[in-house]
Amino acid sequence: MIKTGFYIHFPFCRRGCFYCHFFKKKHRQLAADEYLGYLAREIRRRRDPGLLLDTVYIGGGSPSLLTPPQISALLETTAKNFPIDKKNEITLEANPEDLDAPQLKAFLRAGVNRLSIGVQSFQDRDLRCLKRTHSAAQALQAMEQAREAGFTNISLDLIIGLETQTSRSMERNFRQIETLKPAHVSVYILEGVPRQAADERDARLYFQARQSLLDLGYDHYEVSNFCRPGKASRHNLKYWKNQPYIGLGPSAAGFLDGRDYRNHPDLKKYYAGLDKGILPEQKTAPLQPDLRRIITGLRLLDGIPASAFKSFSAPSDFLLTEGFLIRKGKNIAVPADKILLLNEILGYFV
Ligand code: SF4
Repeated sequence: MIKTGFYIHFPFCRRGCFYCHFFKKKHRQLAADEYLGYLAREIRRRRDPGLLLDTVYIGGGSPSLLTPPQISALLETTAKNFPIDKKNEITLEANPEDLDAPQLKAFLRAGVNRLSIGVQSFQDRDLRCLKRTHSAAQALQAMEQAREAGFTNISLDLIIGLETQTSRSMERNFRQIETLKPAHVSVYILEGVPRQAADERDARLYFQARQSLLDLGYDHYEVSNFCRPGKASRHNLKYWKNQPYIGLGPSAAGFLDGRDYRNHPDLKKYYAGLDKGILPEQKTAPLQPDLRRIITGLRLLDGIPASAFKSFSAPSDFLLTEGFLIRKGKNIAVPADKILLLNEILGYFV
């Protein structure tokens, strides 16, 4: 049996955030119920007894708007159509304002064993700048309640590059991380929002964040991701290690049998495909396998086996000579101090 990841997209949010580029719609209970019916159809449509799910990731959107019975039903439908490995990682993305103690306990009982909480910052000024609907106090409370409910594997998302952020306010965020000790921290640079002198400032804040997390004992394993030893996101590692995963829901991407696919980023087209009994996929141009390995794998600080660069010796030799790539044992990687130049570096291969 082939170990496979399962990404489920829940494309509904209370309201859109101005900086977000994910596919999402305004949350309405009836629309969400209709959607879950179609999602179950897609799960059945993709049924494959040769695959063993060892990770499930429910992302969005705001999947913490799902009720515990809805999560249970979703995971039951999944388990009826795909065997789930005993040693599974089942992650739910959550917004702090959606969480409360009884619901967190019910999520855990339903099978969710990892939470990824979109804290963004522990400073109210930053949260107002992002126009988030939660406060710093709610972010702290969400973390505490999740721990009390029994979650031990918790990831927190932080955003950097806000106009309100300074080196000192960032430091306060990392003091909170030191106190809360989450298993995993993701640090995202605010993108697609014009800001003054953003690149230089973002880089300074990013490397400050990186150093703070290293000092606290986290491993920096991917551009935006840091973990306590052994606590890397098993699901997300599949994206970067060229391993198979099934994506479900509008806009979700999958990689199966060496083939990439993406579902229509459009609810109507997604429903229409399933009504016709076909997979709701849009056409995607295939990527040359080694190029795919390079594009996904160089995000990892450990890099990828040097063998992946065989048909790209001219650009890789140049980048190795110039110090934009380095050898790490049998792997080739981007050095940590150049990791924000990743897109420029990948430009040499495409
Ligand atoms: S809540 Fe999350 S997914 Fe929804 S719009 Fe905001 S950032 Fe995007």
